[in-house]
Amino acid sequence: MSTADTSQDAVIIGGGFYGAAIAIYLARQRGLRRILLVERAPALLTRASYNNQARVHNGYHYPRSFTTAYRSRVNLPRFLRDWPDAVKQDFTKLYAIARRNSKVTAKQFERFCREIGARIQPAYPTLQALFEPRLIEDVFLVEEYAFDATKLASWAERELKECGVQIRFETRVTAISNGSNGTLLATLQPDRGAEELITSRYVFNCTYSGLNQFKGDFAGTRTGLKQEITEMALMQVPPALQGLGITVMDGPFFSIMPFPARGLHTVSHVRYTPHMHWNDEQGIDPSEKLRQYHRETRVDRMLRDVGRYLPAVRDAKYVDSLFEVKTVLMKNENDDGRPILFEKHPELPGCYSVLGGKIDNIYDVLEKLDAEQFVAPGTR
Ligand SMILES: Cc1cc2nc3c(=O)[nH]c(=O)nc-3n(C[C@H](O)[C@H](O)[C@H](O)COP(=O)(O)OP(=O)(O)OC[C@H]3O[C@@H](n4cnc5c(N)ncnc54)[C@H](O)[C@@H]3O)c2cc1C
Repeated sequence: MSTADTSQDAVIIGGGFYGAAIAIYLARQRGLRRILLVERAPALLTRASYNNQARVHNGYHYPRSFTTAYRSRVNLPRFLRDWPDAVKQDFTKLYAIARRNSKVTAKQFERFCREIGARIQPAYPTLQALFEPRLIEDVFLVEEYAFDATKLASWAERELKECGVQIRFETRVTAISNGSNGTLLATLQPDRGAEELITSRYVFNCTYSGLNQFKGDFAGTRTGLKQEITEMALMQVPPALQGLGITVMDGPFFSIMPFPARGLHTVSHVRYTPHMHWNDEQGIDPSEKLRQYHRETRVDRMLRDVGRYLPAVRDAKYVDSLFEVKTVLMKNENDDGRPILFEKHPELPGCYSVLGGKIDNIYDVLEKLDAEQFVAPGTR
């Protein structure tokens, strides 16, 4: 093992949206100068920050979790302000309510939207006509958008460079330990080459599904996590569905969302998108599990069911699937809430683990970081 002479103010583990945004925040808002971001993949935002449904939430999705719905309402305008070029707004968004097996009725959904102050109106008859009336109780026109992960990645690249954040790609952090004089030690394992030890005052663990895969003094997160291998099918939709995003609520149903990074739509289905799940624990590396997974698509089953509600989807062409590990806080398995995980590790002072259940939760994380005292460089 070589001990690099580099001593950092902060090491950020994970170059997804969260790791990048936190590195930029620490440099721009908190004056930390020597920041090293370590990413296992060869590029930024290639994992969950890319392989997702691209929905910029506005609350509609969460009739069973008022807090998550409310936070989405607060965060959406900020996200539009901060990343205007990365947000696709030029499509029509519909929420439809199923007649059977739905956990919410059309009336309850309307009332809930009014309670959280989210815009809702009946869909025009031409749009209503897309749905099978025997299965769909009502269809609403709402205000919800989609983000383009490739544009967020370009933003991250540009900003990290401007802030002087160093990046190490194709390198894994394998252990976090206590060093001397209140410092932390991160063990880096490059894909090619020998292990290195980096000394840092702070370590931010922004690895999403990899949060618990560290050796050394890292004792794991106190919050229990559930991991799911998920599939979203990428489709070329027929003209009748172009320019639309559709979600059928609330329960064992589906969504069809624009996926701006590829100019396609994703289809996800509550029954078929999750392929397998397990309780997170150290030693079961979710990335490795995903790499070994057979990835047999379930698109036929998704479309068979979706086609019952929305016959036009039968003319959609399957292109590809996005497989990813989705990480959910165990306590939200049943209410679908998507709060953040923000933990300090008493056994490793200066080490933080962070997970945002959705992209706009970044504001909730930054609010938590605002409340932290960071020792500015040169005062140690
Ligand atoms: C199927 C699915 C659908 C979703 N739909 C939406 C949606 O519509 N809207 C929404 O807002 N959110 C959605 N989400 C959630 C959203 O994707 C996440 O909240 C967000 O991407 C998390 O960003 P992140 O930076 O924490 O994770 P990631 O983007 O996964 O970044 C973590 C990074 O850490 C790296 N890494 C891991 N371990 C190590 C290590 N030991 N050393 C170095 N690097 C490491 C990984 O390679 C990865 O690049 C969805 C997620 C999934 C999986």
